[in-house]
Amino acid sequence: MRDPASQSTLAAPLIEVFASIQGEGRYIGELQSFVRLRGCPLRCAWCDTPGSWALASPPPAARIAAVRGARRESSWTSPFQTACYVAEVEPAGPRTVSVTGGEPLLWPEFVVALKTFLGARRLHLETAGAHPRALRTVLAAVDHVSLDLKLPRDLAAPVELEPDADEPVPRSAAEWAEARAACLALVAGRDACAKVIVAAGRAAAEFDELFESVAEYAPRLDVVVQPATAVGELAAPALDLVISVAERARSLGLAVRILPQLHRTLGIP
Ligand code: SF4
Repeated sequence: MRDPASQSTLAAPLIEVFASIQGEGRYIGELQSFVRLRGCPLRCAWCDTPGSWALASPPPAARIAAVRGARRESSWTSPFQTACYVAEVEPAGPRTVSVTGGEPLLWPEFVVALKTFLGARRLHLETAGAHPRALRTVLAAVDHVSLDLKLPRDLAAPVELEPDADEPVPRSAAEWAEARAACLALVAGRDACAKVIVAAGRAAAEFDELFESVAEYAPRLDVVVQPATAVGELAAPALDLVISVAERARSLGLAVRILPQLHRTLGIP
């Protein structure tokens, strides 16, 4: 899906560029800049950015939280222009850049090109792990991958943004298992982590299939068990459940830590 008016075939629809603190995963607490892209076909029960799902035509303007004041710019943006926005939002020296969404792997060419304009900055990717082919495309351009592993019961039916997409979104449990295995095999041995979100009402044993995939395809990967933040009708889990889930990962020999969402705790974007 491309912006017909864009002069760059590499353009992607931006939601916002801002500086903040990494709130999740292996680099939690690090001062970073964030590039949030529009579009996601998934429907996770705990999603805290449902406004990122749809690709309206034309999409709403992007928010650039520049140091001199936030402003709005056209959403469809080239990788070069995005790198300029990144430099604008940095309060001090260059920061690591996390590209997030939505699902950034809908725009793999953008991600690859963005890296070439970021200078020495590291580029981190946050992905739901539904698009292994796109992940393979961007892998050499990103310095870290934060890969979500999702329980099937936490996913409502996906809404394909492009009916004829090159890489359809997994739907069945078998398709998800295949995508998960492929993504884990790609990030094995790299700077990466797997994030498993635990919401209330789940049984610890439900997470076994996720951890068994990690043990099989990327056994040295850092695993982060993240209690879901209460949103809408979704409740945060009891601590006992979170600990039980982490213990099941540990029993498979995985390196697992429990980390809450720091940015939600601090009340920052
Ligand atoms: S993959 Fe991310 S943006 Fe998409 S529905 Fe899930 S949490 Fe929301």
